[in-house]
Amino acid sequence: MMEGQRTPIESGCPDGFQYMHPLMRKNFGNWAYHEDPRPGVLTHTAHSGDKIHTVRAGTQRILDLFTLRKLCEIGDKYADGFIRFTIRSNIEYMVSDVNKVDPLIEALEKAGFIVGGTKNSVAMISHTQGWLHCDIPATDASGVVKAMMDELIDEFKNWNMPNRVHITTSCCQINCGGQGDIAINIQHTKPPKINHDLVANICERPSVVARCPVAAIRPALVNGKPSLEVDEKKCICCGACYPPCPPMQINDPEHSKLAIWVGGNHSNARSKPSFQKLVAAGIPNNPPRWPEATAIVKKILQTYKENARDWERLNDWIDRIGWPRFFELTELPFTKFHVDNWRGARRTLNASTHIRF
Ligand code: SF4
Ligand code: SF4
Repeated sequence: MMEGQRTPIESGCPDGFQYMHPLMRKNFGNWAYHEDPRPGVLTHTAHSGDKIHTVRAGTQRILDLFTLRKLCEIGDKYADGFIRFTIRSNIEYMVSDVNKVDPLIEALEKAGFIVGGTKNSVAMISHTQGWLHCDIPATDASGVVKAMMDELIDEFKNWNMPNRVHITTSCCQINCGGQGDIAINIQHTKPPKINHDLVANICERPSVVARCPVAAIRPALVNGKPSLEVDEKKCICCGACYPPCPPMQINDPEHSKLAIWVGGNHSNARSKPSFQKLVAAGIPNNPPRWPEATAIVKKILQTYKENARDWERLNDWIDRIGWPRFFELTELPFTKFHVDNWRGARRTLNASTHIRF
């Protein structure tokens, strides 16, 4: 290091190898195949002949210290002292001795954790931050996940689905959230309400104007103060202006609804990516149990389970039967609002970051 240069501050993820089970370190990059002996358990076999068994249990993601300690105690007592978390908030314990699998599952279940979520089950819902620690959510995420997984517990614990099902949530309309077989997303239905007294103090107006994808925001002078105005005929109620400008309040207990999209899938070795499509809109955002959204998700899952062929993912099944049949089978109403062919996109969508007034 050159003289006078400060020492870099190392932050970010630590090296994962130090936390890995020794058998995983030894066989890194040399796994031959895996088997699924029972729901919630994976057995990986390496080219060397070593076998490692993984037991997966769902967690609530936002973990309190006591639950985390409990999970670690179980890992120290019944597993080999190594854990990891998956992106869907499952905890996984790795053991080298197959005889440890059953006592480990028993200990987890006795402590109230649910083992499952592998192969053709409904995996844990991947969820966003929600009311707990994001600044723009219109609904919760942990709450939706808890309410829905309570109803889907048997689908998590068993292999009843034609193929795996990934469900995602998104508590605003624009940021994290995800692409999934079934996605539960916020849908705003009214343009933002502007608090003109605060805009000049809080918002950087050019960046808010540039944020709008349909160029519906203009600078304006209101009561002698610099503010913004929204062309409500153009506004698509996306909520993109709200994060950089909190006085453009778009969250509303009545008009921020939930929408359900289906058929999203990332590309893999066998297929191209598929984009999820809207199938239900205007669903009440109804905490703490969101019964209306849960009922629709359950209906879609039930229909998929009864009608799809083995190994068809939700998008494969819909591709085979077609959208009209999907709506018939699930008894979801199909309206003109489901049709969006983006014909106007080139003309109306603000596709660059240049500021337009
Ligand atoms: S989906 Fe939106 S509101 Fe929810 S955590 Fe992500 S950014 Fe925040
Ligand atoms: S950013 Fe979205 S919500 Fe805000 S004015 Fe533009 S279209 Fe409407």
